[in-house]
Amino acid sequence: MKIKDIFETMEYGPAPESAIEAMDYLKSHNNIFQLFINGEWKAPTSKDYFDSFNPSNKEKLAKISEANEKDVDFAVKAAKEALPEWLNIGAHQRARYLYAIARQIQKHSRLFAVLESLDNGKPIRETRDIDIPLVARHFYHHAGWAQLRDTELKDYKELGVIGQIIPWNFPLLMLSWKIAPALAMGNTLVLKPAEFTSLTALLFADICKQIGLPKGVVNVITGHGTTGAALVNHKDVNKIAFTGSTEVGKIIRRATAGSGKKLSLELGGKSPFIVFEDADLDSVVEGVVDAIWFNQGQVCCAGSRLLVQESIAETLYKKIRKRMESLRIGNSLDKCIDMGAIVAPVQIKTIEELVQQGVDEGCKLWQPSWTCPKDGYFYPPTLFTGVSPSSTIAQEEIFGPVLVAMSFRSHSEAVKLANNTRYGLASSIWTENINLALDIAPQIKAGVVWINCTNVFDAASGFGGYRESGFGREGGKEGLYEYMKPKIHEKFSDKPIIKTPKPIKTSFTEEQPKLGIDRTTKMYIGGKQARPDGGNSTVIKSTHGEYVGEVSAGNRKDIRNAVEAAHASNSWGGMTGHARAQVLYYIAENLEIRKDEFANRIVQMTNVAKSDAVKEVDESIERIYTYAAHADKFDGLVHHTIQRNVTLAMPEALGVMGIVCPNESPLLGFISTVIPAISMGNNVVVIPSETAPFSATDFYQILETSDVPAGTVNIVTGKKDELAQVLAKHDNVDAIWYFGDKAGFKDIEYLSADNMKRTWSNHGKYRDWMDKAQGEGKEFLRHASQIKNIWIPYGA
Ligand code: NDP
Repeated sequence: MKIKDIFETMEYGPAPESAIEAMDYLKSHNNIFQLFINGEWKAPTSKDYFDSFNPSNKEKLAKISEANEKDVDFAVKAAKEALPEWLNIGAHQRARYLYAIARQIQKHSRLFAVLESLDNGKPIRETRDIDIPLVARHFYHHAGWAQLRDTELKDYKELGVIGQIIPWNFPLLMLSWKIAPALAMGNTLVLKPAEFTSLTALLFADICKQIGLPKGVVNVITGHGTTGAALVNHKDVNKIAFTGSTEVGKIIRRATAGSGKKLSLELGGKSPFIVFEDADLDSVVEGVVDAIWFNQGQVCCAGSRLLVQESIAETLYKKIRKRMESLRIGNSLDKCIDMGAIVAPVQIKTIEELVQQGVDEGCKLWQPSWTCPKDGYFYPPTLFTGVSPSSTIAQEEIFGPVLVAMSFRSHSEAVKLANNTRYGLASSIWTENINLALDIAPQIKAGVVWINCTNVFDAASGFGGYRESGFGREGGKEGLYEYMKPKIHEKFSDKPIIKTPKPIKTSFTEEQPKLGIDRTTKMYIGGKQARPDGGNSTVIKSTHGEYVGEVSAGNRKDIRNAVEAAHASNSWGGMTGHARAQVLYYIAENLEIRKDEFANRIVQMTNVAKSDAVKEVDESIERIYTYAAHADKFDGLVHHTIQRNVTLAMPEALGVMGIVCPNESPLLGFISTVIPAISMGNNVVVIPSETAPFSATDFYQILETSDVPAGTVNIVTGKKDELAQVLAKHDNVDAIWYFGDKAGFKDIEYLSADNMKRTWSNHGKYRDWMDKAQGEGKEFLRHASQIKNIWIPYGA
């Protein structure tokens, strides 16, 4: 096109970025990439390679190695062997390496940006101005955390060898989100990029070589899902960090169940973009472009559900259609385009099928009048209106440039629609009324809330989901805990810590008073004592085999009733931390009054010396004080993000938690698990000690007399593992803590995959509940809460 033509038509001329440097880089490897293992390029054992294409023009870029199980084994071995020396060099040296990586990424930013755009099809403007600067920022930020590790996180230690699996939508950015914190906390790792987009990860491997990163600290193995699966299943991998589809996330959750591997999952989303009638609509339109057409909508946190207040819906749709008409789509290296290519034909097919389903279900489709280029994998920006909340396209993640719009009338309807999804990754709220925005923000069930902005990211802020969007956070201080474990875990025992019973088998005497042994205890559901559904009871005997009493044998119906009761009650979660603390102090006070009775009950069930039982009650009272103290102190952070935002990291309750108490320490085990969970505002369904349940059933009266709202604590007695499995399978339970044996937690982790509920256990080890360092602390509170990052414009 000539300048004269451009002038006359006012068309944009092409403004291509040069691909020469990137092509030269590919040539430097003869366009064939080996695996990066132990600091060297190594041919795959299978000798199999697959092709990587440029989605903008379907041209082949390079051949990539297919790693098999043997290669995965080599890589994990290299990472394991590199670990001692990597730890030995100390925090400061590790900080220097991270800093060196950041510098190199900046120095080679053009090469990285072009290569990423070639490989993925995303516009060069985005890789140049967003992806690569954020990658460098991630390494700089975590160079700082590496330096501070030994002072700021001194009670924690590295996990060991980390397996990291990343998707194709932000290849280098996801790499940096995974690698930077892992290295900063002293781990070594094996990374598997997505098959469609391995090239920048391989260039990154070259950078690691260039800066002289010790061999084996970072290993990059390429391949398909089977390579990822081999990494997940490798016995020497201590943690899997995964970003990708919810479907594969669930496979990984099940595959790692019971293995003791730590897991963080950043999965799909169907994030709401909520527009209230007083919003600045021109800003909203640009927000929509960033929300759903950034990266062709292939963004896990894309604002793919537009929720608009009815009074302005048609006006906004009109403005959006006008803007869509002016969007430019084309070759990823053209600096003038707004949208690039979709990563691969398979992804286009998925988009087309879901769009067709939207049409078939009666939703109204709108696309711009222009047509897409034919030389690559392109899909036009698409708007659906007339969508009902239950439509497939309103529920399923499309992962393409397809916006689904719905309207609402009231604020509460907006919240209901926003939360009407199995996901909970992100959301954005648009209004000129800060009061309204901050009223809605806490009501949205999502890990990120952007106010009058969208798709903003920074290394200083955590990112991650609620519900089926996965668990764990990447970025921010909260993200570091994903790559560490408390040092105290090394003190855990292989066997339950049980006080030795008094040696002489006694029948009941004055010393062991009879306490209500003539009645069967009921369960405690919705603030009331409830008979078991099955009508059965179980005899409980003491350690010496004496009859102590009978407890109700709960079944799946009782668990379901308890979960329902926990959901029906929302007064506890709505209380301030201060108000919750007052109730907890009251519980402690009431326990103090009945100390002797509770101590006797422990003696009766466990035959320990009275003095030991008294100690257990005393420690329980103290523990309640600890969490009453924390209830208004375990607060969040204000992150120093680089944008003009104040970013609040707020710990929120998880919702309804299942708590499976240890069998040992009948009272203290119950208190140490239930009280931190409720101190954070959760409602709980508790399965108390199976062998010594009466400390929990005696506790009903304390709960009733301490102003604990009905439904906050629900207790179902019976066979621990049977009941725990029902809780783990229940779709309305948000998290489950399991304190018991290895087989038990394996089942819990496996069964929890269905709704991706958070799980926590000691992985078959046992705490000494009497030891404060093991039995209480912030670790419990972290597992009882999740961080929501709220981005508010600030100083703009
Ligand atoms: P996947 O979840 O399949 O892939 C993500 C990563 O996991 C890739 O590296 C993939 O390898 C690997 N992988 C695949 N199967 C396994 C397995 N069984 N065990 C271990 N690792 C595995 O996403 P896709 O790329 O296939 O995309 C499918 C859909 O997922 C998209 O349409 C989109 O809806 C969603 N998605 C969501 C993302 C998000 O960030 N939330 C990101 C990407 C996709 P390989 O690439 O070689 O198959």
